[in-house]
Amino acid sequence: MMYHQSKNGSEHEINQVTDWLMMHASLASLSVALESKTAKYRNQLFDLLSQAESMRNSAKSENYLHLAGLLNQLLQAVRREINHPSEDFSRIIRIMRHIELVIKNGTLTFEQSSCPTALILTVTDPADELLDSLSRHGYNIRVANLNEFKDNQLIDLIADSGLLICILSENYTINPLIDLLSPLIEIIKKRPSVLISNHDSFIVRSAAVKLGLTHFLTDPLNLNRLNNILQASRVSENLDKPIHVLMIDDMVTAGVYWGKRFKEKGIIFRFESNPENAYLSAVESPPDIILLDLYMPDINGVELAKIFREHPLLLDVPILFMSTEEDDNCRMDAKIQGGDDFLNKSIPVDYLIKMIRYRAFRYRQTNAIKSSDSLTGLMNHNAIKEFINTEIERANRQNCFTTIVLLDIDNFKKVNDVHGHQAGDIVIRKLSNILNTRLRRYDGIGRYGGEEFMLVLPNTNELTALKLVNRIRVDFARKPINIGNDVNIIVTFSAGVSSFPEHQDLTALIEAADKNLYLAKKAGRNCVICSPPPLVY
Ligand code: GH3
Ligand code: MG
Ligand code: MG
Repeated sequence: MMYHQSKNGSEHEINQVTDWLMMHASLASLSVALESKTAKYRNQLFDLLSQAESMRNSAKSENYLHLAGLLNQLLQAVRREINHPSEDFSRIIRIMRHIELVIKNGTLTFEQSSCPTALILTVTDPADELLDSLSRHGYNIRVANLNEFKDNQLIDLIADSGLLICILSENYTINPLIDLLSPLIEIIKKRPSVLISNHDSFIVRSAAVKLGLTHFLTDPLNLNRLNNILQASRVSENLDKPIHVLMIDDMVTAGVYWGKRFKEKGIIFRFESNPENAYLSAVESPPDIILLDLYMPDINGVELAKIFREHPLLLDVPILFMSTEEDDNCRMDAKIQGGDDFLNKSIPVDYLIKMIRYRAFRYRQTNAIKSSDSLTGLMNHNAIKEFINTEIERANRQNCFTTIVLLDIDNFKKVNDVHGHQAGDIVIRKLSNILNTRLRRYDGIGRYGGEEFMLVLPNTNELTALKLVNRIRVDFARKPINIGNDVNIIVTFSAGVSSFPEHQDLTALIEAADKNLYLAKKAGRNCVICSPPPLVY
C-alpha cells in the first residue's frame, strides 16, 4: 500500500511518519516472536514492554492521545502476562492490530487520485450553473474555444479529460462539430460526455449519438438532470474498472477455455459448474455479467435465471444464455423468462468480449443513474447502504477502518414552516454541495432520508472522521444560506459517527451512528458525537 504525508505535510512530518511505521514494525516482529512460544518468550515480553513504553511516551509527547491510549492497553496486557503467564497472546495480538491500523490510518492519509478534468468545448461563455455543478462534483474545469485549436491538440485535450462537454450556440452549430469530432469518436466514446444544445431537434440528437456523446441537454439547463448526469459520471469512472464475469456451465472444460480467453483481455472471470455455488457466489459479489448455460443436469438455465432475478442485488445484472440450441422459439422463450440475450456457444471470442464490454458498460451506467437522488444528485438511500456494505467488506479484507456518519439538519421543520418547502429544498441542496466539495472522491455521500445524509469514509478512523465532520459543521453553521428574495438564514446540523471494525455489520454501524446522532440532538444540536475512544493514559 502507498502512503504519503498529508497535503501540507512538511519534511519533518514525513520523518515522523517513517519513524512510527518503523517503530510499529519492530513492535510487530516482537509480538510475532511471542507466538512461537519458545523458551525465550519471557525475554521477548520484557522487550515488548520496554518498546511499548517508549512508544507510548513519544505518542504522548507528540499528542497522539488515541495511540497513547492503545499503547497503554498493550502495556497493561503485557504486564499481566509477565505477572500471571497464560501463554494466550490473543489480546496482545488484537491490540497490536489496532495499533497498526491507527499508525497507518490515523496520522497518514491515503494517496488521493487527482481530480478529473471536465473539458468544455464552446465558443460562448459557459453558464455559471454549469461551472458550479462541475466544481461541486469535483471536476477541474478546462474551457477550450472550439475555433481555436488544431486537431492534434484536441486529441490530447479529450484524452486527458474525464468528462467532455460540447456547447452548441447560434454561432456554432452541429455541422462544424461533426466535422471536428468525427475523427475522434473512439476517444470520445471512452468517457462520459454531454452535448448542450441551444435547441432540441432530431438531427442534433442523432448527430450526438453518432459522435459517441452520451448525454443530451438543451439550454437553459435542467439542473436536476445535469446533476444526475454528473453524479452518474462520477460513479461511472468505475466503468473503466475491469469487468467481472460469472460463467455457469456444467462442462468444466468450458470454464477452462473461456477463462483463458477472458484473462488475456483483462476481464475478471469466475466459473462455477454447480448451480447452487454459482448462486451463492453471485449474491456474495455480484458480477457485471452472468453467462449461463441453458442445459444443465439438475436445473436449467432459465430456472436458474429466475432464482437470480428474485435477489435484489441480481435483479438487473445482464444474463446471457449460452447454448447450442438452434430453435428460435426456444431461444425467444429463454429471453422472455429472464435472460437478456442468447448466444451460440460457438460465438467468436472477440465478438463475445465486445458484447460483454458493451453490456457491462450499459449496466453500470444505468445503475449509476438509478442509484442517485433526484434532488441532490447524491446516492440515494439504497445506493448508500450498498456502498456501506461494499466498504465493510473491503475494510475487512484490507484490515482497515471504515467510518460512517449520519447527519441530520437541525429544526428543519421550522425552515419549511417559516420559509416554505422550496427554501427547505435549497438548504438540502446547499448542504449536499458542501459535502460534495469537502469530502474525498472515494468517500460515499448519500441522501439517507428527507433532511438526513449518510457519509461513508473509507480508510478513516472514528476520530479523524469526527474532526473532519466537525470542521464542516462549524463552516456550515457560520455561513448564511441565501434562500432567494435576499433572505439569508442560518442553519445547523447534528451528526453521529460510528466505525468498523468496532461495529461489524451494516445494521450495527447504522444503529451506533443513529444513537450518536440522537445524543447529539439531545445535547442541544449543532454538534458531532462519536463513540468514546479507548481510555487515554
Ligand atoms: P431535529 O432537529 O430534531 O432533526 O428536528 P427537525 O425539525 O429537523 O426534524 P423533523 O423530523 O421533525 O422534521 C423534518 C422535516 O423535514 C419534516 C419534513 O417535512 C421535512 N422534509 C423531509 N424531506 C424534505 C424535502 O425533501 N424537502 C423539504 N423542503 N423538506 C423535507
Ligand atoms: Mg432534522
Ligand atoms: Mg429527521
